Amino acid sequence: MRCDFCAKDAVTLIRYNGSHLCSDHFRKYFEKRVKREIRKQIDLRPGDKIAVAVSGGKDSMVTLHLLHSVFGSRKDLEMHAISIDEGIEGYRPPSLDIVREYCLEKGIPYHRRGFDELGVSMDAAAPVCGDNSPCTYCGVFRRRLMNDEARRIGARLIATGHNLDDMAQSVLMNFVRGDVDRLARLGPHTKVQPGLVPRFHPLRLIPEKESLLYAMVSGIPYWDGECPYYREALRNQYRKVIGELENASPGAKFGIMSSYDTLRPLLSDGGKELRICECGEPTLGAKCKSCELLGVLTERIKCP
Ligand code: SF4
Ligand SMILES: [Zn+2]
Ligand SMILES: [Zn+2]
Repeated sequence: MRCDFCAKDAVTLIRYNGSHLCSDHFRKYFEKRVKREIRKQIDLRPGDKIAVAVSGGKDSMVTLHLLHSVFGSRKDLEMHAISIDEGIEGYRPPSLDIVREYCLEKGIPYHRRGFDELGVSMDAAAPVCGDNSPCTYCGVFRRRLMNDEARRIGARLIATGHNLDDMAQSVLMNFVRGDVDRLARLGPHTKVQPGLVPRFHPLRLIPEKESLLYAMVSGIPYWDGECPYYREALRNQYRKVIGELENASPGAKFGIMSSYDTLRPLLSDGGKELRICECGEPTLGAKCKSCELLGVLTERIKCP
């Protein structure tokens, strides 16, 4: 099949709009949408420092690559990459090697933090997670360390690699749980809260498949190993349901996000102001979620 815009062979069919694109036209199409999304989500000011949360997977590497190619030459902006090592043997170390090498090559300051600072590792935690999936703990600890490091280096914003599939799953999950507060607090964050570095998501409207294809046709290095605890994630049920919806009606994921974006201004996050937990992290209650889960885990690790 030929590209709809030139004589080259198409590398993809974009099912939701029916277009066949060669690698060059696909890259242009992809970059145009990501740049538009960045403009929509953030308003950069001279002197700004942006932190990019990078695990070494395709989405975070594509995000880092694009932000570096868009803003890397601007002398009035600073970009840093931050990785969190969750302590998953055989999975995280090789992915962080990729990030470190990429940052070294591009001259991007690179910061690494680890769950070991909290006295845990996911390998030790996973067998004692009880009814919760390991990802519940992992996500909370990762956000804590990421926020802490971004604050420490003075970043005004954190970019993450969440793609359209991730976002649609989060929206649906919170709808099903009836968690309107959390639905209202999903990124991109427009409200600045004390102690919380606002997040934005350049790939928010990019389907996961397109992010993978972009990494491949652009030669962006990434780690495609699978976390040993991935199959236990609750999110997988939503991934399956949304995948089936998308197959039956191409564009379903966009539909979920566009409904969410229309409703979002009407959602209330409960109006509660954040306080600062004794660990320094922002919290709605007296103790932050991370301290709460850490307490549970350390007890269980001591006496399983
Ligand atoms: S799959 Fe779950 S446990 Fe593994 S890195 Fe991701 S959030 Fe952590
Ligand atoms: Zn073309
Ligand atoms: Zn805390």
